[in-house]
Amino acid sequence: VNQLEIRNLHARIVDGETILNGVNLVLPKGQVHAIMGPNGAGKSTLGKIIAGDPSYEITKGDILMDGESILEMEADERARKGLFLAFQYPVEVPGVSNANFLRLALQAKKGGEVNLTEFYGKLQKALETLEWDESILTRYLNDGFSGGEKKRNEIMHMMVLEPTYAIMDETDSGLDIDALKVVAKGVNAMRGPNFGALLITHYQRLLNYIVPDVVHVMIDGRIVTSGGPELAMKLEEQGYDWVKELAVSN
Ligand code: ADP
Ligand code: MG
Ligand code: MG
Repeated sequence: VNQLEIRNLHARIVDGETILNGVNLVLPKGQVHAIMGPNGAGKSTLGKIIAGDPSYEITKGDILMDGESILEMEADERARKGLFLAFQYPVEVPGVSNANFLRLALQAKKGGEVNLTEFYGKLQKALETLEWDESILTRYLNDGFSGGEKKRNEIMHMMVLEPTYAIMDETDSGLDIDALKVVAKGVNAMRGPNFGALLITHYQRLLNYIVPDVVHVMIDGRIVTSGGPELAMKLEEQGYDWVKELAVSN
């Protein structure tokens, strides 16, 4: 089964409040899905749980990658299996150049030495797609990077690491339109039968540039409805009130 499956997932903050109340979602490899929803719905929490954030505990349900549960795996093992979590990257790593960090990450993923010619080839291609200068490679990772540069750099890492599934949280920090376009360019360049992406977004605007195969709407820790790209348009025009009513009647 070539899919990322979130099966009846219930989760809470360790010893605290329940945030996810039975999330069901199947992302087949080769597709791009969006999760939208009002603030506080639990979207970012879902992303962090897929990443293996230890501040949450799963009380019920499972997350399966190509049929295999990942719940017992550490974050780095999930990455080796082909999962990429964009928002894990904002950490600053002073003293390690961007290119070296990426080479080590690729080496860890492959479990062996990386062919340098191949590596630099991939870097070049990613920089070209993202319309970026080589000087970004020698800077320390995220050290003094602007918000837009961090985002663009995450996408570059994703393009070089070639994950099977990528989870991207746009976050509420508000990317400018140029950063959004770059994110979109990278994701669109990766689209294909061996890549699936889950885009978490509060706003419809990213989906103007990355047209998703499926849009899911999360309210109160559950997916309450799903549809095509037109669903995102409807949410943009009508807001979330009508979906909230769906959530109550379900
Ligand atoms: P969204 O991304 O959809 O806006 P979040 O997943 O960020 O929603 O948050 C869902 C709810 O869970 C919010 O009410 C938020 O305050 C709460 N929450 C999430 N993580 C934590 C945490 N670590 N500690 C306390 N509350 C949290
Ligand atoms: Mg929020
Ligand atoms: Mg969020």
